[in-house]
Order: sequence, then structure tokens, then C-alpha cells
Amino acid sequence: MTLNIERNKNLKEYNTFGIEAVAPYFCQIQSTEELQALFRNEQFKNMPLLVLGGGSNILFTRNPEGLVLLNKIGGISMVEEGEENVLVKVGGGVVWHEFVLNTIAQGLGGLENLSLIPGTVGAAPMQNIGAYGVEIKDTFHSLEAVNRTDGSLRTFRHADCQFGYRSSVFKTSERDKWVISHVTFSLHKKPQFNTTYGAIQQTLEERGISSLSLKAISDAVVHIRQSKLPDPKKIGNAGSFFKNPVIDAAHFTNLQQQYASIPSYPQENGIKVPAGWLIEQCGWKGYRRGNVGVNDKQALVLVNHGGAIGEEIRQLSEDIQASVKEKFGIELEAEVNFI
Ligand SMILES: Cc1cc2nc3c(=O)[nH]c(=O)nc-3n(C[C@H](O)[C@H](O)[C@H](O)COP(=O)(O)OP(=O)(O)OC[C@H]3O[C@@H](n4cnc5c(N)ncnc54)[C@H](O)[C@@H]3O)c2cc1C
Repeated sequence: MTLNIERNKNLKEYNTFGIEAVAPYFCQIQSTEELQALFRNEQFKNMPLLVLGGGSNILFTRNPEGLVLLNKIGGISMVEEGEENVLVKVGGGVVWHEFVLNTIAQGLGGLENLSLIPGTVGAAPMQNIGAYGVEIKDTFHSLEAVNRTDGSLRTFRHADCQFGYRSSVFKTSERDKWVISHVTFSLHKKPQFNTTYGAIQQTLEERGISSLSLKAISDAVVHIRQSKLPDPKKIGNAGSFFKNPVIDAAHFTNLQQQYASIPSYPQENGIKVPAGWLIEQCGWKGYRRGNVGVNDKQALVLVNHGGAIGEEIRQLSEDIQASVKEKFGIELEAEVNFI
């Protein structure tokens, strides 16, 4: 099998922050077999490796070492149909939103609230992507991944993935061990609509939509996201830079006495507080420092105004973390993957 390896590839177009970085070796992967051939190839099997999907959750603070793989494994196929559900298997390189639109066109429910999240299907299980009250763990069935050490193929079932809030086994104990080649979803033939979260219901009403459909919900989510989040094609960003912290009840009660309007979402393990609110309270919303800054509509999004290097964004993120820690005693954890 001939692998098309490029040398010294500029990755600016391959990350939504639009940061300049150079890959010593770069290869676009179209199939599981190509991946396996690469991991069994004497020259490449022991090289440091970075897998890239859409580059929408990555910050380059330096050039990656070794080989950068761009996942282009395609294909969407129905593999099993039951009374209530359909299993759909998708190539890891398929663009997430294109897949969501495909399921909606087929009348299959479960992913409509996750419309317009950037990136690829293969990266979605990594951090259990979520939005508007839904996470992929809700419709995830299984995935196939190739072992980076020996090229062997393994199926991960739901329980194997240990999904949590913006987390999975691929971000923890199995980090950097696998390349996700295919993901299978269990989608609903009779959709159960979920419009309770965020402004979905309000947007549907504003648009005069009284009879719910997958497409109406997807359109509403797209509309809300476009009005709230900066478009990476216009201004470099990676969406939410930090996770929303979960704090214990005593800490929350203490903060509530000082900040009566602090928003909160009770969880099993504590109280979730929106990181964007904490950052805004520290005065960062709309802040600009040279080439980098904090979005003026959503303080959780750090932006590259053009020409930034990753270190500038990292420094800004650390300053934000320090000020939130000082004011609220809360440590913000980055959601974005640093390279
Ligand atoms: C404007 C904007 C809005 C966003 N909104 C949301 C949101 O609402 N909810 C949400 O959860 N996320 C959101 N994100 C973050 C991002 O879209 C998701 O994390 C997405 O799943 C990243 O996909 P990607 O293909 O771009 O991954 P990349 O950025 O290319 O990679 C992310 C990480 O996964 C690894 N990886 C990628 N592909 C594979 C693979 N096939 N196998 C193994 N490892 C892999 C990479 O090495 C890296 O560590 C947003 C981002 C932006 C820019």
C-alpha cells in the first residue's frame, strides 16, 4: 500500500484557531487499512503521532513532532434496523454537522441538538461532545479504533468508553493509544424531541413553529449558535476554552452569599457553575491583548484576531485562570487540547 506522506506541512488551515505550526510528516488517511499499514511501517511506527480531525479543539503552542495524521475516513451506512432504533456506522473523518444533517434527512432522531458543532465524527467521543442538554453518550453505540503501537483493531462498547462531562477514556487512561476509525450510533426512528434547554423553545416560538420536527430543532440550534458563537472561518477560536467547573455545595453557598446572581446547575457530584459567567465577572469579556482576546459575546471563547501564536493564547488563558481562582477560589480546567 502506498502512503502519501508530505514533508514540512503548514497546519494553519487545519486548526480553527488559525495558528501557524509545521508538521515534519503529514498524511491524510482514507481507510482503516491505511492506518494499520502506517502503524506497521518500520519508519513510522515508533514516531510521535498527532491525529487531527477538524482541528477545532486544539491549540498549537509549538510544532508537533513526528507524524500528523489527518483523518479522512468516510462513509455513512445503516448496519442494523430494529423496531425503535437504527444503528448507523460512520467513518471517523466525516464532518460532524454533515452527518447530523444526514440523520435528520433520514428522519432519525437523537443528534439534532448537536447540530453545527465543528469537527469530525472520530473526535466526537474523545470529549463526549455535548450541547443543548444532549451528549453523544446518549446515542453512542460503539466505536472501532486502531491501536497506535501494533495496528490492531478493537471495538469499544459504551461502558468501555467511560463517558463523563467533556471526557472519556480516550482523554484519560487510554490517551494517545488509539485512532478512532469508525463510530456507530443508535438513533431513534420515533424521535423524542428535547427543547427544554437554552433558548430552543423561545427560538421556535419566535419563528412561529408550533409543530416540532428534527429539522425545526436543528435549524433553531444552528440559528442560536450562529448568533452566540464566533465563526472560526472569520475569527480564529476553538469554542469553549474551559470546562464548566463543578464545585461542592458549601463552596457554592459561600459564593452565593457574595454573588446573589451566580448561575448554577445541580449535578450528582456537586454544583456546576458556568465558566463564562465567572470569566465575565472578572472583567475579561471583550478584552484584547495584541493579537488575542476574549470574545465580546461569550467570555468562554478565546480568539485569535489574526497572526497570534499559540503561546499568546496560552498566556491569556493562564491569566484568566489565575483571576478566577483569586476571585472565586475556583480552578478552571482547559477543555481545549494543548500541543
Ligand atoms: C465554534 C466552536 C464551537 C464548539 N462548540 C462545541 C460544543 O457545543 N460542544 C462540544 O462538545 N464541543 C464544541 N466545540 C469543540 C469541538 O468542536 C469538538 O471538541 C470536536 O469534537 C472536535 O473535533 P475535531 O475533529 O475538530 O477534533 P480535533 O481538534 O482535530 O482533535 C481534538 C482532539 O481529539 C484527538 N482526535 C481527533 N480525531 C481523533 C481520532 N479519530 N482518534 C483519536 N483521537 C482523535 C486529537 O488528537 C485531539 O487531541 C466547539 C468548537 C468550536 C470551534
